[in-house]
Amino acid sequence: MSVKKPQGTLYIVATPIGNLGDITHRAIETLKKVDKVCAEDTRNTRKLLTHFGIQADLQALHDHNEIARIEQVKGWLDRGDHIALVSDAGTPLISDPGYHLVNALGDDGYKIEPIPGASAIITALSVAGLPTDRFSFEGFLPAKSVGRNKALQANLKEVRTQVYYESSHRIAKTIEAMLAIFGGERKVVLARELTKMFEQIYRGDLAGLQAWINDDAMHQKGEFVLMLAGQVQDEQTNEQTVAVESLLKILVDELPVKQAAGLAAKITGKKKNELYKLAMSLKGE
Ligand code: SAM
Repeated sequence: MSVKKPQGTLYIVATPIGNLGDITHRAIETLKKVDKVCAEDTRNTRKLLTHFGIQADLQALHDHNEIARIEQVKGWLDRGDHIALVSDAGTPLISDPGYHLVNALGDDGYKIEPIPGASAIITALSVAGLPTDRFSFEGFLPAKSVGRNKALQANLKEVRTQVYYESSHRIAKTIEAMLAIFGGERKVVLARELTKMFEQIYRGDLAGLQAWINDDAMHQKGEFVLMLAGQVQDEQTNEQTVAVESLLKILVDELPVKQAAGLAAKITGKKKNELYKLAMSLKGE
């Protein structure tokens, strides 16, 4: 009588983003014990595994074959094999392959376990000194200038810190486009070559960053995380809003709402219908 092996687990294993010392103990243990390692680029992963003395059955899983691989991975798990998914660097699925696989396996109830570790976005935010209570991860901007400008325009009023991934080919163009859209005074932090020998963190504004990036050809080489401060709530606008509300409060206590709104519009130059709505809410109507 044959005993069915229990279903295997898919481990999502983070690997270092530069410094090999950042591999975790659990990542090594997991990569040693699994039956197969699915990797974005098997040659890169082979080098990493060799460094840690790990021999593995490596299988390519990248953007071009991920969907076709799903049924095969399910078959391996069904027969009880444990599988690890790694990308070239950092955490799989974060601007890296794996989404389709995890989505399909999750829907079918397969066991998926994270083995957490480095990711460029969190590493960069940890040293940026920009607000991180809320942030927006934007990944890579479109490669063509029309798409890039459109994507940036859409974030013009974003109040959260925005995080962008960028490559050496486009970093100068991206900074130029950001400067045109957000203005030279917007606060920015650029993290270059994190955890590597030539790690650099630039802190300043967009005008200063553009000068820095063009100052030395070396500054444009390597890998980048670009973090842009969110739009600061205009304090002046807040003060004006408070002043308009105070004026309306006085007027609605003395006059009918319509008349109060009309008078406030004449005094402040604001739209009468907006002030009418505000006056109604102040009156509790
Ligand atoms: N999955 C990875 C992660 O968890 O961060 C990201 C992979 S994505 C294809 C590669 C991009 O991540 C690079 O173009 C760069 O924007 C960023 N990146 C990766 N390693 C980096 C490093 N050491 N320093 C700065 N940025 C890095």
